[in-house]
Amino acid sequence: MIETGKLQRAAQAAAKQRCINAACGASFDLHARLYVCPNCGDLLDVAVRTTADEDPEGLRTVWTSRLASFDPRDRSGVWRYRELLPFAADTHIVTLSEGNTPIYDAPVSAAYCELDALTLKHQGCNPTGSFKDTGMTTAVTQAVILGARTVVCASTGNTAASLAAYAARAELQCAILVPRGQVSHAKLAQSLDYGAAVLELDGNFDDAMRVIRELAEDEEIYLVNSINPFRIEGQKTVAVELLHQRNWRVPDHVVVPGGNLGNSSALGKGFKELKDLRLIDRLPRLSVVQAEGAAPFATLFGSESDMLRPIERPQTLATAIKIGAPVSWKKALQAVLETGGRALSVSEQEIADAKAIIGRDGVGCEPASATTVAGIKRLVASGDIGSETDVVAVLTGHILKDSDYAIDYHLNQLYTIDSATSRTKEDRHLASTYSNPPARVKATKDAILEGLLRHQSEHRD
Ligand SMILES: [Zn+2]
Repeated sequence: MIETGKLQRAAQAAAKQRCINAACGASFDLHARLYVCPNCGDLLDVAVRTTADEDPEGLRTVWTSRLASFDPRDRSGVWRYRELLPFAADTHIVTLSEGNTPIYDAPVSAAYCELDALTLKHQGCNPTGSFKDTGMTTAVTQAVILGARTVVCASTGNTAASLAAYAARAELQCAILVPRGQVSHAKLAQSLDYGAAVLELDGNFDDAMRVIRELAEDEEIYLVNSINPFRIEGQKTVAVELLHQRNWRVPDHVVVPGGNLGNSSALGKGFKELKDLRLIDRLPRLSVVQAEGAAPFATLFGSESDMLRPIERPQTLATAIKIGAPVSWKKALQAVLETGGRALSVSEQEIADAKAIIGRDGVGCEPASATTVAGIKRLVASGDIGSETDVVAVLTGHILKDSDYAIDYHLNQLYTIDSATSRTKEDRHLASTYSNPPARVKATKDAILEGLLRHQSEHRD
């Protein structure tokens, strides 16, 4: 185990929970069992001491040396950067070797966006297939520190799958609460295998949230929803790992999908702390892309208002970002404004096509992740991003999280859901512009060779 010692002790000793509302300014002990500010109800974040007098070169050297270590803390792409985390050096961590996600050069996607080059950071390559794992390792570690016996969330999506896995590692009971009939199958399969108690409630999502708040009053139950500040702490290390992989060369622009906006908040916090530590000398622009039917943040960004207006019935096939009232919008807005980034939305058609294009780079992602490439294409077209700009798109989920979507696209049978209007099925059909359907051929060598030729001619761009 390789330690820098001084900085980690300092980070832990000085860390506290802090209300993000500057007018309130309350701060609380790191281990106070809180979910929101008890004074004003606003979100909390964890303030770690980052104006260290530590030599930035020393940190870089230690982090790089850990890449050759077999210690579980060094093998994790989150805990490798533990100097930046609010945990004591001897903390018993709950880890699945999360992080360590690849960056890919993506020439097909770059050409599609009319960029010279484009980098993809694939957070879908985490242990449970989504970016949630980088935050869950720290949140469940905190649950163990607080002596919780049960962890709870309201979701059947990526959050549930991730929490179920980490709870299993920690030997904690995991409860997943969801309104009856709103169970998403691919992700539910993971929660069931990881041994979580999946509880379908009579009622709607608001009822689920009310029950959760009541449960959270129980000392033995720890709520791991998206406002949990310890999840953000783990997720911010994605910024550190990205810069480390690029040998500390700061990208011009980082683009992320926008759902609950915890991810953009975390990346913003990560980049800012790296700059405070003098590990980088400037911040990349941070932009957020939402799906048109679930875009309250993009709408806020384009308006004069300073309050987000929730959307009652968000609509998008990109289920991971189908969120009408994103809880972390204030943190995300601050990060986008501070870095000169943008917030925008893209259509279902643009998402579907961008996803197929990303696939042609040999990289599979779930629909929500493809908002990034669709958004970048728009920003290049509008002149917000120049063709020579160094851009990183953060993909958040693995293609196998939603394989039905991919199949439907390639079979030319992908339809949007639109419960609010009475659009016909034809109107809801998404064009399969880059489809690659399977072909039926006879079981002969000639038929197969002919089939290959046909496939090649159909897919020559
Ligand atoms: Zn407050």
